[in-house]
Amino acid sequence: MPSTYKDRFPNIDRRTVEATRRLIAARPWRGNPGRGGRAEFEAAYAACRAWLEEVSTVYGLRVPALKIGSLILIKHPYGCYDPTDNTIHLPKFSVTTLAHEFRHAWQFQKKPLIRHDEGINHREGLVGLLLYLVDPEHYQPIMMKWLTEEDARGWSVSLIYLADPAFYRRAVERRLLLYW
Ligand SMILES: [Zn+2]
Repeated sequence: MPSTYKDRFPNIDRRTVEATRRLIAARPWRGNPGRGGRAEFEAAYAACRAWLEEVSTVYGLRVPALKIGSLILIKHPYGCYDPTDNTIHLPKFSVTTLAHEFRHAWQFQKKPLIRHDEGINHREGLVGLLLYLVDPEHYQPIMMKWLTEEDARGWSVSLIYLADPAFYRRAVERRLLLYW
């Protein structure tokens, strides 16, 4: 399947792209278990916190808290955003996952998504129609969940591609991304 997510958001705010370039350069994955010790963990955590503060300012968000490896991940093994306490949970340090979950914080705090009278493309329209035919009673929440996921995937992958195309390509080649 050809890549599409990296081209979904070509015009992300320059400040966000710059902050992400710096976060990638800080190599926070070196703070993960099996890679580094306490000092590397602290450095990675500080770099992710700095990114969250900077990028939250760009979009006027309340800065999400960040937790690594908490128990909530039993239910959400790839990470999640908990809107009840504005916290991003990650299983380990990952620039792409951090950006993905930050986008969910943005979705929740800004509630811009995604009105049916605008901006549904052919693919989304087709998925919506199929869902409706399969399960007319539940299609709307399923469709909204799918649209919010598509938005978070597109935004996070486009962001790492804009920030560091070589980093993006290496991640694709090494199959480190769930989508690309
Ligand atoms: Zn998600």
